[in-house]
Parts: sequence; C-alpha cells; structure tokens
Amino acid sequence: MKKIFIYFFAFLFICFILPALLTKRDIPTSSGDNNIDNIENTESAKDTENNIQNTQENKEEKYTYNKYGTIKLLHSKTGEVEEVALDDYLCNVVSGEMPADYELEALKAQAIVARTYTIYKCQNPKHNNADICDDSTCCQAWVSKEDRLARWEESKRETNWQKIEQCVRETQGKIITYNNQPINAFFHANSGGTTELPVNVWGGSGYPYLQVVQTAGEEGYTQYSSEVNLTQQELINKLKEKYSDIQIDFNNDEQIKILEYTDSNRVKTIRFGNHELSGVETRTLLGLKSTNFEIKKENGRIMFSVKGYGHGVGMSQTGADTMAKQGNNYEEIIKHFYIGVEIKEINSL
Ligand SMILES: [Zn+2]
Repeated sequence: MKKIFIYFFAFLFICFILPALLTKRDIPTSSGDNNIDNIENTESAKDTENNIQNTQENKEEKYTYNKYGTIKLLHSKTGEVEEVALDDYLCNVVSGEMPADYELEALKAQAIVARTYTIYKCQNPKHNNADICDDSTCCQAWVSKEDRLARWEESKRETNWQKIEQCVRETQGKIITYNNQPINAFFHANSGGTTELPVNVWGGSGYPYLQVVQTAGEEGYTQYSSEVNLTQQELINKLKEKYSDIQIDFNNDEQIKILEYTDSNRVKTIRFGNHELSGVETRTLLGLKSTNFEIKKENGRIMFSVKGYGHGVGMSQTGADTMAKQGNNYEEIIKHFYIGVEIKEINSL
C-alpha cells in the first residue's frame, strides 16, 4: 500500500511539480536586463528543456559574434582607445545618431546600418590603433549613456533608453550585405526627397548599392529646409578662406550662377566671380546644410535656400522614419535606400 503512495507522489512530481519548476526558470526575471546571470539561466534551462523555444527566450539570448563582438573605439577628444562590446557600443551610436522618438522600425534600420558601418570600418580601418572613432564627422557619433540621458527630459529617460536597447537587441547579429560582403552603409539626416551618388560627394568609382532614390514625406521634418542669408562682404569673406583672390561683380547676374546639377538635382558646379566651385566645396565654405540649394539676391543680400541635411548618400533618417510611419518594416526601409542588398546574420558569412 505504501508503495502505491510513493508511486503516486512520484507520478505527481514528474507530471506537475518538475515541469513547473523548469518552466519557472524560463520566465525572464527582469525584462530588458541583459545581465550575464540571466543569460546563463536561460541557456541552462534550454539545455534541460530543448523543446522550449519561444520567441521571448530568443529575444533574451545574447548573440555570440564569431568575429567583431568586441571593437576598439577611439575617443577622439582624449585619444583613449576603449574595447567595447559591439551591441553595447551600438546603443550609444543609435541614441547619438537618431532621435529616440522616431518609429521603432526606423530605429531598428538605424541599428543595422550602424552595425554594418562599424564592421565595414573594422575591415577598412581609418585609424591606426582603433576600429572606429566617436566623431560623427569622421566615423559615426557615439554618446555616453550618462550624457545621452542628461539630454533627454527626465520623464522619458528610462523608456527612451529601453527603446534603443530593444532595437539593437532585436536586430543583433544582422548586417547589410552585397555579394555576401558588408556594405559601406552611409547615412544622413534628411535627403530633401532624393538621395545622392557618393561620386558627387567624395569622388571615386561609387558602389552599385548606392544609387539615387526618392522618398516622399521628408518635408515634414525641421531638417528639410533652411536658409543662409549673407551680405556681399560676408560672402566674400567666407570664400576668401579658400580663394584669397576672389572677386565678384554683384551687379552682374552671371557672376553668381549655378552651372551644373547632379542627377539628384543638387548643385554640382557654381560660379562665384572669377572662380568655379563644386557644390560640396560651397556647402563647406558657406556652412550650408546640403548641396541642394537655390540662390536669390534680395536688397543687396545673397540668400541660399537649402533643402535637406547632410551629404545625401545612403539611408535618410527622416526618410526611414517616414517609411516606418507608412507601415514599412526595417527590411523594407533598408532595401529602399540600398539597392540589391540582403540582410544577413554576420556569423553566416
Ligand atoms: Zn574616425
């Protein structure tokens, strides 16, 4: 009789209590907290119960990079080189490069673009002792978590940072490839509706995946239009920084004239008096937000009306946000701005 009870309790234990104990281990103890203890717990639970493969568990699991899991980041102001985990680094990049109130799918696209850009830089380094630096004008922006949080409204700090971490975590391991190689994933703030070919910005032979593409809806963002309004003397002074012998007859309309446009309708060549400048050079010297500009003369002043913000090559961030608002996912966004590419797991290359 005793034996029956023992068998009965053993039966109860195997059928109900043991599964309950094992299942409990699989429930994340603190959502979003990706500390090592949680990851190890998840992994050991997986070993014991191979059949449990829910998506929640997949999200919690940290991707193990075969290569580039740790990168050397150069802090340009101090010269210090810091070794950082790739996906931790990307949270500081994405939060530095794109506003946190952008759509989730746009932020995910930005995370994949930034990861791809980073790995491309690891393979084609600019700096001697580091893979990449924290300067947006040289490599890509990096902002410390402390500085980033301080710039957000207090009530939004926690949710914003969680949103950034979510975008990096849910795209971990993913990069953009062309012919099975990471692409040179350029991006910028606002294309003004049309992106630019890299050859018109930096010269060279270009990349098959970086073409001129259009996006509707970018005019709704503050970066879309801007103006630079200069007196004749201010214009001369700015141009003199590079062309000390510059001379302009402001009474002659031919002396300030756009001569040629690129395929994306940006200024390719412009005449200022006795010199012809490229649109890119003009942008730098006059501090314009892009090379997509028109010129008007009013009351002796010269007005540059500018469309878009940035070099215009690759993904437009406001274009990505617009597409996300229209219901596109990160893959559709990425494939719109980079032609003929695929999104792959880096370990599969
Ligand atoms: Zn750099």
